Amino acid sequence: MRRPAFRMFAPARRLIGNAIVLRTLPGQRAFVRAPRAHIEAARDRRVRLVVRFAAAHVPHECDRGTRERIDPREIRTAADLVRLPVLEKDDVRRAPLRFVADTWHGRTALPFYTSGSTGERTLIHHDRRGLIENIAYSEREREVIAGFVGRPLGYREAVLSYPGATVDKVRAFYAEWTWIPGRPNRRQLSVLRSIEENAASLAEFQPHLVFAYGSYLEAFHRAALAGRVPFYKPRVLLYGAEPVMPAVRAEIERTYGVPVLSAYNAVEAFKMAFHCERRDGFHLHEDLCHLRILDVRGMDAPPGVEGDVLISNLVNRGTVLLNYRIGDRAAFAADPCPCGRTLRRLQEIDGRSEDLLALPNGRLIHPRGVWGIVKPRLEIQQYQLVQTAPAEVVMHLVTPDEASFHTVEDDVARALAALLGPGVDVRVVRSTAVPRTAAGKVRMVVGLGARPA
Ligand SMILES: [Zn+2]
Repeated sequence: MRRPAFRMFAPARRLIGNAIVLRTLPGQRAFVRAPRAHIEAARDRRVRLVVRFAAAHVPHECDRGTRERIDPREIRTAADLVRLPVLEKDDVRRAPLRFVADTWHGRTALPFYTSGSTGERTLIHHDRRGLIENIAYSEREREVIAGFVGRPLGYREAVLSYPGATVDKVRAFYAEWTWIPGRPNRRQLSVLRSIEENAASLAEFQPHLVFAYGSYLEAFHRAALAGRVPFYKPRVLLYGAEPVMPAVRAEIERTYGVPVLSAYNAVEAFKMAFHCERRDGFHLHEDLCHLRILDVRGMDAPPGVEGDVLISNLVNRGTVLLNYRIGDRAAFAADPCPCGRTLRRLQEIDGRSEDLLALPNGRLIHPRGVWGIVKPRLEIQQYQLVQTAPAEVVMHLVTPDEASFHTVEDDVARALAALLGPGVDVRVVRSTAVPRTAAGKVRMVVGLGARPA
């Protein structure tokens, strides 16, 4: 896709970015407690705008509209979205640019890749204005976090992720386009380092807030229980990307007396839902991303019934996704939350949870570390790392042909050897496909003791 260059001077860029944030900011905190009619009207207005925009500017939607003779003006509320067909990940993965708007917003959008629980990447573009507005929408979640941290600005925050993670790319973009005073003092830690090293960094930095992937938080907790590391106690723990079972969350809170919060987001929609102070279910950003839940019959599920999550991103004018099956399962909560927020809630989210790979050299490998190696190498369509013996792994790569496999083979082997550390035997082989679980998912990292499918 053609990407016009931005040669604007930094001060001018930041002026524009700040103006967008300041325009979007007023009313964000009040919105989460607004009367239902107000929230629904804001949501439906955005539904109408995005459906009309898509019909005019998104190739996939233009063609479908002509084919199926759906008049976009007939989609007036979120409830009308049932009239549009369900969009599958494979549809987007096969032809990602057919979902990107042909407007300036689409052409200048930033590309991101999903890490996909199916082991295949999907290309999703986010338009710049939507990304910047996201800073203002975050105010809804920041209110909760600031309450636990005890101060709204300038707190210390440690983020445990991998080099090249989506969150880093978004933050680099924000730093380029905005100037926000009182940003947290942030330290980046890597899940590729050992738990002992990260525990030492946390103790030294003393962050008020720690963010980690769900599985990494659990691994940290287990390592602390086993006496391997002290559990650093921030004012609040935040996890994302993978779910943590409520029982485990409760155990961590009980053991260390630290509140454990999460937000539900994905590369396809940066703002879907968030925990409030009560941590009982996730409040939906109803006006930013409309969620439907389909039961086994493919009908909209009533509260309390778990089903497949479909999202319609109401903000993004890069890749426009309507009724997109994101691959997670959840149920709506029936009752309003006692916290006073009027945004609807999801009960727990049952999404991807990944195995950590334990190696005899003491390293504990998070699957995102492996994904960090695969991500920039576009020849790799799918992959799976299987631990075949305590110190032996086989990396299966699916590539379009033999030649592209040979292009990446040695490179991947070298990067994996560096990631896994000394004494681990690494083999890289070409495969035609990697096995799926009964639920159709692919486990990207299969440790010893786990079933290979
Ligand atoms: Zn609440």
